[in-house]
Amino acid sequence: MKAATFEHVRKRLFVGLLSAGLIGTVLLLAAIWYFAANPSRSMLHQILLLALGTMLVGGIVVAGFGIGGIILTILYARDISALKGPIRVAVNLFFPLALALGRFFHIDKDRIKHSFIEVNNFLVKSKALRLSPGQILLLAPHCLQRSDCPYKITVEIDNCHRCGGCTVNDLLELRDKYGINMGMATGGTLARKFVRDYRPRGIVAIACERDLTSGIQDSNPIPVLGVTNERPNGPCFNTRVEVPQVEEAICFLIKDKERLAG
Ligand code: SF4
Repeated sequence: MKAATFEHVRKRLFVGLLSAGLIGTVLLLAAIWYFAANPSRSMLHQILLLALGTMLVGGIVVAGFGIGGIILTILYARDISALKGPIRVAVNLFFPLALALGRFFHIDKDRIKHSFIEVNNFLVKSKALRLSPGQILLLAPHCLQRSDCPYKITVEIDNCHRCGGCTVNDLLELRDKYGINMGMATGGTLARKFVRDYRPRGIVAIACERDLTSGIQDSNPIPVLGVTNERPNGPCFNTRVEVPQVEEAICFLIKDKERLAG
């Protein structure tokens, strides 16, 4: 399968699960409506059901516009600013619903999360971001550091002696080449601290599917481009990342700025 087609399939999984959730909700609403219209129910019962139905209709309208917005953004590869709000709701609020549906259909959790990251990256790339290097934060996980490296780099990343023994060296070269900020986090708390300290307008985050999905949601509304790490030695141990992919994400965030300057 060609890479582009594969990426499309990965995006389709998340959008498909969201759409299935929407259809399920519509069916639920129809059932509520049926019971509400049943003349054997008391007035209070009917009012409660009507209120619930109204809330559901609101949710369905927002989700419908959100999913429609995601599909249109993917089809036309451009940001649809009028649908920004519903898209954000659909992507972040209905993500747990997509996961639950995936469980029901026995779809691997990491596949759904990967699909979510693809959709998120696509939505971020559809925006015309004009960031200066100082507004960009590169967030990397601590497990990229070689396990037998004696230097403590989570507090001070420049403690790395740049021996070339792990990807940290390459990431620091990218940081220096583009003049961006970089933080190496041992977990969500430290990652959030870096975000608070650097106040970035755009983030390139490297992590596993689980940490990336929660990081993307936590950082909302700051746009995050996610790059998944490789785990040839199992989770959280001597992991790696495709450095060209990280560089491509950094260049995306700053390229419009460069074009403007040129
Ligand atoms: S590049 Fe070398 S010094 Fe730096 S973190 Fe990796 S192993 Fe340690």
